[in-house]
This record gives sequence, C-alpha cells and structure tokens, in this order.
Amino acid sequence: MDALTLDRTDAPIFDAKAFRLTPFEADLTARARDFGARVLAPRAAHWDRHAAFPMDNYRDMHAEGLLGICIPAEEGGLGAGFRAYCLTAAELGRHCGATALTWNMHVCSTLWTGVLTEDLEMDEATRAEHRRRRRLHYDRILQGGAIYSQPFSEGGAAAAGAAAFGTTAKRVPGGFVINGKKIFASLAGHADQYGILCTEVHEGEKLSRRDTLYLGVPATAPGVSVEGEWDPLGMRGTVSRNLIFRDVFVPEDAALMPAGLYFQAASRWPHMFLTLSPTYMGLAQAAYDFCVRYLRGEVPGMPPVKRRMYPTKQIAVAQMRILLEQTKALWFQAITEAGPDPSKDQVLRALAAQHVVMENANAIATLAIRTCGGQSMLKSLPLERIYRDSRCGALMLPWTAELCVDRIGRDALYEKGETDA
Ligand SMILES: Cc1cc2nc3c(=O)[nH]c(=O)nc-3n(C[C@H](O)[C@H](O)[C@H](O)COP(=O)(O)OP(=O)(O)OC[C@H]3O[C@@H](n4cnc5c(N)ncnc54)[C@H](O)[C@@H]3O)c2cc1C
Repeated sequence: MDALTLDRTDAPIFDAKAFRLTPFEADLTARARDFGARVLAPRAAHWDRHAAFPMDNYRDMHAEGLLGICIPAEEGGLGAGFRAYCLTAAELGRHCGATALTWNMHVCSTLWTGVLTEDLEMDEATRAEHRRRRRLHYDRILQGGAIYSQPFSEGGAAAAGAAAFGTTAKRVPGGFVINGKKIFASLAGHADQYGILCTEVHEGEKLSRRDTLYLGVPATAPGVSVEGEWDPLGMRGTVSRNLIFRDVFVPEDAALMPAGLYFQAASRWPHMFLTLSPTYMGLAQAAYDFCVRYLRGEVPGMPPVKRRMYPTKQIAVAQMRILLEQTKALWFQAITEAGPDPSKDQVLRALAAQHVVMENANAIATLAIRTCGGQSMLKSLPLERIYRDSRCGALMLPWTAELCVDRIGRDALYEKGETDA
C-alpha cells in the first residue's frame, strides 16, 4: 500500500514519526487502531440502534488488556501514562464513540488512582495504605474483568466544581453509609463498581468540597438502584441512567483515593478533566475520513460514484481538514504537557483544547453531512451516528464548552484574587 492510499484509509490519527510518539505509544495506538476497526466498528450501529451497553466489547477489551491500560505495569497493567492513554482512546473513539466514552469512565478510576496520585502529596503511611487499597480495585479489574464507572453528576452545581456533592458519606464503624442520587450515570446497570464522588458529612458543619470522597460502590450493594429511561439523541450505548443510593454501606477499603486527595487532584492536576476529549478527537477524525471516502466513491456498500470534482466539495473538505489539523495540534500539545501544577497558560490551553475538540468534532460532522448529501445521513452509514454522538461532547461537565469559555475569559483578564472593587 503506498503512502497516499494509506492516508485515505485508517492511517493513525497521530502518525508515530510525525508526532514523535514513544515506541510504547506507537505500539499501543497501532493495537487500538486494529482493535477498533476489527472489533468495535462492526458492532457500533447495534449499540446505538438499541441504546444498549456494549458488553461484548468490554469482554474483548478485557482479553486485550485494555481494561488495565492505566494500571501501573508493576501492578500488572499496561502502564500507560496520560498521553499514551489519550492517544489510544482517540483511536477507539473513531470506531465507537459510546464504547470509548464509557471506557474512559472506567480507565479514569485507574489513571486517577495510579499515575496521577503519584504526583500528589500524602504522608508515607497514607501512600502505603492508598497503594494497598487501589491494588484491591486493580485486581478485580485485571483478574475478574470488573468494570468501573464514574457517576459524578447530580444536576446541581457540584459536577461543575462549584459546590460540594449532595451525595453524602457518613462515617460508621468499618466504613461509610452513602445516600444520594446521581444523574447521567454512564454504565448504570452494567458496571460492577460505581466510582462515585460524594461529600463526607461532619456533624454540625456545612458540606465542603474539601471533604469530597472518591469511593467504589459495588453495583450489588444493598440500597443501590438504577432508575429512569434512556433514549437520548447520541452516545446511546453509554446507558447513562440515574443511580440511587439509599443507606448503602461500603467498607473503608472502598476508597479509591484517601480523604482529601480528590480535592488536591482537582486543584493540582486539572488536566484530569481533559480525559473526556479523546473520544471526540476520534469522532472528529472519523467524520473527516468518512467524507473523503464518500466523495471519492470508496464507502463500502455504496455505488462507486465520485463526487470529488465539484469545487464546492473541495472547499468544504479543505475547511474540514483545517478544522481537523487545528484540533489535532492544540489537543496534542495539551495532552503532552499534562502534569501536576501546570502554569496558568497551560490550564488555559487545556480548556481551549477541550472546547476546540468538543465543538470541532460536531462542526466537522455537520460539514460532512452537508457536503456528502442526503444519502450520507442514512442509518445504514456511520456518519449520522458520528454526528449525533459528537453533539454530546460539549455538554460534559465539568468542562462543558460554555464553562471553558467562561473560565478562559475570566482567567485571561484577572489574576488570582484580583477584583474591580
Ligand atoms: C452521553 C452522556 C454521558 C454522560 N455520562 C456521565 C457520567 O458517566 N458521569 C457523570 O458524572 N456525568 C455524565 N454525564 C453528565 C454530564 O457530565 C453533565 O453533568 C450533564 O450533561 C449536565 O446536564 P444538565 O442538563 O444537568 O446540565 P446543567 O447542570 O443544567 O447545565 C447546563 C449547562 O449550563 C452550564 N453550567 C452548568 N453549571 C454552570 C455554572 N456553575 N456556571 C455557569 N454555567 C454552568 C453548562 O454549560 C451546562 O452545559 C453524561 C452526559 C451525557 C450527555
């Protein structure tokens, strides 16, 4: 296959040589690219059509080692760091948005408790206890194929980082008792463990974000229930229904992070909130790829009619390519510089990257539908699903497109503590 042909098919989103990927990243993304095309793509329409959770994909991802992608290598996982994970997730998102997005929720329970906590401060005894506890969670994943989810949203200001979580954990002998409700809990009814954020209650005190706890709640624990319908516009395979916790007891070993550490992580490692974006980076690439193939008359199952000779179509493809290259460049820079205690500029860039990926994925898909024409939005082809899935990215808290704009504007104009009074 010559270089030009490769460019038209499923070439890597980030070419290993051009983007100077490490050999580990090059290998991992190549494996994900193959897995996505071979396993995820043929099944994606099914999960979408039935709003069904992609359980078969999870079984295959477990066999592939992908459920432990961010578990440190010395603890039995693949040992991917932040960037390696993001690049791999983008390759999966290209083929099935709902699988990549839910897999992200699962992976964060290992990335945040693994690589990320290594950069955070805690005394040696706390660190040793954290490592012992996370090992229990990691073993469940590696040996039993356990799936973790990440239900944080409650419908109030907590998931945006503006208030304490209303879901509470009260300390009792041996553990905690949890009460509350989570909305949009992707993987609801399908995850083995719900990795929830909740607030530890201290009698007589107001709930505080500093008291946020990150706890793994077994799906089978008495008092856990799943409620509500799930029939949304896009990302239908995520099955993001409501989760209710009524006097749910979990032992102390349920802690995914020591007390106080989530607050430190959110303050000192803000790129942790960029992890929803790789799925949409993949969708942006998928929309572009589809359009090019379609105009060249190369979409499998379609008559080989070429439409590429019209100048308007060439201009639209150029616009899409420019949007895609802008998105890739900014996002790649942001995931490359992710780390503890970023500068203000680095945080602004991360927010801009999130905004650009989420908005451009849908802008490219929109242009692709307009440019390819009516037949391209038939449900027999993936473009209309990519279009619907890509619309959901900008709504994801805490870094919705709106909140990114709010923060970039404010933080660009004000230094910390500055007021106009
Ligand atoms: C497909 C899908 C899957 C999801 N999966 C998960 C999941 O697994 N776990 C999870 O925790 N959540 C998940 N979410 C939820 C998501 O992160 C948001 O919490 C949810 O979309 C918010 O919807 P809402 O209508 O309650 O938004 P609202 O909170 O009503 O906000 C509406 C809009 O107002 C803006 N806004 C919100 N708060 C503020 C503020 N303080 N200041 C200024 N503007 C603000 C934002 O731009 C927001 O988009 C998922 C959402 C979708 C669409």
